[in-house]
Parts: sequence; C-alpha cells; structure tokens
Amino acid sequence: MTLSPEQLAEIEAERSVSRPTRRAVSDGIEAYLYTAQPVLDHGFVRVVDYMGDDAAICQAARVSYGKGTKSVQNDAGLIRYLMRHWHSTPFEMCEIKLHVKLPVFVARQWIRHRTANVNEYSARYSILDREFYIPAPDALAAQSVVNNQGRGAALQGDEAARVLRLLTEDANRAYDSYEAMISQDGQQGLARELARMNLPANIYTQWYWKTDLHNLLHFLRLRADTHAQYEIRVYAEAICKIVADWVPLTWAAFDDYRLGGAALSRTGLDCIRRMLAGEAVTEDTSGMSKGEWREFRALLDGEK
Ligand SMILES: Cc1cc2nc3c(=O)[nH]c(=O)nc-3n(C[C@H](O)[C@H](O)[C@H](O)COP(=O)(O)OP(=O)(O)OC[C@H]3O[C@@H](n4cnc5c(N)ncnc54)[C@H](O)[C@@H]3O)c2cc1C
Repeated sequence: MTLSPEQLAEIEAERSVSRPTRRAVSDGIEAYLYTAQPVLDHGFVRVVDYMGDDAAICQAARVSYGKGTKSVQNDAGLIRYLMRHWHSTPFEMCEIKLHVKLPVFVARQWIRHRTANVNEYSARYSILDREFYIPAPDALAAQSVVNNQGRGAALQGDEAARVLRLLTEDANRAYDSYEAMISQDGQQGLARELARMNLPANIYTQWYWKTDLHNLLHFLRLRADTHAQYEIRVYAEAICKIVADWVPLTWAAFDDYRLGGAALSRTGLDCIRRMLAGEAVTEDTSGMSKGEWREFRALLDGEK
C-alpha cells in the first residue's frame, strides 16, 4: 500500500478532529474511520463514513421512538430472528461508505454488485499511477485441473520466476507507452481517456463505494466464500473484520446463519429425515443429481 505523505497527513488531520453528535455511534467502527487497511500489494479498504449500529436495526424493526434497545440479549435475539427469517429492510437501515483501492480486474468483479453507489477515479481526467498488482509467490497459482474457475498449487522455481518477470515487464512496458503517449516533449499528447486503453487489468484503480448493510452482507457471503477469486476474497475478508466490529450482534448472526449455515432443498431435507430414521441413503436413492449429492455430502461431512 503506497500512500503519499500528503495523503497520510490528510487522513491524520481527519482523525484528529472529533465532533459531538446526537447520532448513534459504534465504537467498534470509529476505530477504523479514515485509516487505510492494506489489502494485496498496493490496495486498501478505508472506512470514510457509516450510519447506524446494531441498535438501529432493532429500532427500525420495532419502529420505536427511543433507542429501541430492550437489552443486549433481547437485541441479539431479535437480530438472529430477522437474519433467520430473511428480513432484509431492518439491515438496510445501516450504511457504510468505503474508499477502496483495487486492481481493475478485481473492480470488474466487484462492480457486478449493483446495489451500491459508486464513484471511480477518473482516468479521463487524471493520470493513473504506475502501480500494478503482482501476486505474492504463494498466490502465483497454476490453473486447476479439476475446476476451470479455480487454482492449483503455487508455481515454483524457474516457472514462477518466468511468470513474475512477464507480469512485471508487460505492465511496465504498457505504462512506459502510456506515459509516452500522454506527454510529447512539450507538445500536446494523446488524450488521457484514449492513452489508458493499453494499460493492463492489474493496474490499480480507486473508488468510493457506499452500500447498506443488507447488501454488504450479500456481497460478503459471495465474495468472502472460498469459491470467490482470492484477489477479491481478501478485500471481502478485510471488510468482514470491519463489519464484525461495527455491528457485532449482526455479524454473529450472519456468521452463524449465512457463513456457517446452509440452505437445503426439500429433497435434501427429506434425505436427512430418512437418514435419521436409519435408512442408508445413497446417491442413487437420494433423488439428487451427481453435483447436488456431492455438495450435500460435503455439507454433512463438515466440508462447507
Ligand atoms: C464465485 C462467483 C463466480 C461468478 N462467476 C461469474 C461469471 O462467470 N460470469 C458472470 O457474468 N458473473 C459471475 N459472477 C457474478 C454473479 O453472477 C453476480 O452478478 C454477482 O455476484 C452479483 O450478485 P447479485 O446480482 O446478487 O448482487 P447485487 O447486484 O448487489 O444485487 C443484490 C440483489 O438485489 C437484487 N437485484 C439487484 N439488481 C436487480 C435487478 N436489476 N433485477 C432484479 N433483482 C435485482 C437481486 O436479488 C440480487 O441478488 C460470479 C460471482 C461469484 C460470487
């Protein structure tokens, strides 16, 4: 993560100011405010603003006049109930605004989550920095032979060195040409909006990303999952830590029901009932497809 001394000073200046407020404050997330949490080699996640806390969710669910809090235990029970029964709007009462610095290929996956407000750094207006994501040695993985959308073991030795050299050289060569196209010894060069065309997808971009807690949890369920690509997953994991400190009761319910829990089909539920009754259910007698049965067995074997 490379923040300039000016950027660090701006962050410190923001952090040094405290404002009295009547609004709900979550001490857990206050600690993160404005500070950049490093992700990948040059990326970060930074909380710029937030609204609400666990009590705000209960307040909305009860449509109450005051804090809405009966007791922490009561609130925990209500939040678990809301999560268990897929009530979404109370969680939409909390909002978060993040400043994220991320490689363009990660941004392409991230932007698919449409239920957010986004403002991205303009490469039409500004000149992008010479910053590229180059995987750490343990993330420089081979193509998986069993999963077209997955990775195998990390490349080793000469092969790892060759790939790293190609990634670094290609990125720098493209950036050299970018610089050469936009500035031409005092003469007006190519427009920035065109010169950026040749830049690789591992160059870093930045955006402000604002969403509500319900949609954030949906994003985290999909992107903090082992099926998500490592490079977006590490961002999701950084956000998970922030959410756990921001709304601990909601996080505990989410962790239990969504991250740790699973949804079963009628057929799956029926198989469990038959197993409990002593029947040795097999793939052939389960009524499931091969893939469904594999996932079902993985659930029962604790591999989720
Ligand atoms: C592991 C993984 C692999 C993926 N692989 C691919 C891939 O190969 N190719 C690809 O193209 N995408 C892929 N995706 C992206 C995926 O299909 C979704 O587009 C992405 O995860 C966003 O999910 P979402 O639409 O639920 O989220 P959001 O856009 O945040 O929406 C949240 C929810 O709001 C509702 N919603 C939002 N907008 C609308 C709308 N216009 N109409 C109706 N309901 C709406 C839906 O209920 C939705 O679930 C992948 C995602 C993951 C996690």
